[in-house]
Amino acid sequence: MPTPAPIRVTVWSEYRHEKKNPKVAALYPDGMHRTIADALGRETGLTVRTATLDEPEHGLTDAVLDQTDVLIWWGHMAHHEVADAIVARVRTRVLEGLGLIVLHSGHYSKIFKTLMGDTCSLTWREATDKERVWVVCPSHPIAQGLGACFELPAEEMYGEPFGIPTPDELIFISWFTGGEVFRSGATWRRGNGKIFYFRPGHETYPTYHNPQVQRVIANAARWAHSGLRIKDQAPNMPPLEPLPPDPEATSRSTQGHQ
Ligand code: ZN
Repeated sequence: MPTPAPIRVTVWSEYRHEKKNPKVAALYPDGMHRTIADALGRETGLTVRTATLDEPEHGLTDAVLDQTDVLIWWGHMAHHEVADAIVARVRTRVLEGLGLIVLHSGHYSKIFKTLMGDTCSLTWREATDKERVWVVCPSHPIAQGLGACFELPAEEMYGEPFGIPTPDELIFISWFTGGEVFRSGATWRRGNGKIFYFRPGHETYPTYHNPQVQRVIANAARWAHSGLRIKDQAPNMPPLEPLPPDPEATSRSTQGHQ
């Protein structure tokens, strides 16, 4: 059997906290996107590139998206700086079949909110809680290699209610030291695209160095890859079988799509 073509992953990040906060820079000297990309690069069957907010077109040109099967998104303080035209471009690509993995504070990104069609709001607390991530769908491809649960000793808390449409699949639920729970791993389909939201990843903690977190993101990249690009269209359809004579056909054929 021929080797399947590698899955082309683009890791996008706004890359701002790392430049402003020495604590974040110490954890991620080359940016969170670089740490995530390096972990994915150690996987077989994946090729990985990065893109950041301050690059022309936020690094998400048509040429880059042409060569992207799965897009990973981390944003927080600069959601409003992401150009609406780029959001529309990515949205179109997702509907065509691009996989999208939205991380942590990306719950409030323009691209996630527009694809969810909901508030995407949640409760939160930055107080170094322990997070225990429970696998609630152990048969799911994204949950493979994790066991029953895994722990992050220090994380920001996100709590319910999370303003999302009911997920197609719920894969993880997190518990926090303060007693809250949160739907921390969930999937949806939009058009031909598969979307996965994954909660952990506050910038002041070493979350993206965690092997289980890296496992989830790699699993998700493979799961979200559809291999499809189906352009949106609404064509007039000739019949596949002969139709009986239609006296109105001549006049109707001169009109546009209703
Ligand atoms: Zn955060």
